[in-house]
Amino acid sequence: MVVAVAKWQGRKGRPWRRIVAATKRLPPVCGRCGLQIDMTLPPNHRMSYTTGHRRARARGGVASVANARPEHRACNSSAGADVPGRRTQAFRRSQEW
Ligand SMILES: [Zn+2]
Repeated sequence: MVVAVAKWQGRKGRPWRRIVAATKRLPPVCGRCGLQIDMTLPPNHRMSYTTGHRRARARGGVASVANARPEHRACNSSAGADVPGRRTQAFRRSQEW
């Protein structure tokens, strides 16, 4: 049902959904690698559209439209706190064979 979407309160209840909507009005160009983002890809695709932070939350970035930008899922999830050498589980190996 559609109600589930309205109830969704991700990111600790911040108005993240509005921020995502705002970034979707921007050109779909990844803020990290500068390449275009294919909006037709499924959400779990590593090159799909996600909303990222200009400044990582771990470094004091806030969830606001000014601090958000389009990013590839792969670029976004590899961003982390921008600590060189620290390799987080970049993106789950969800290859669809
Ligand atoms: Zn990218």
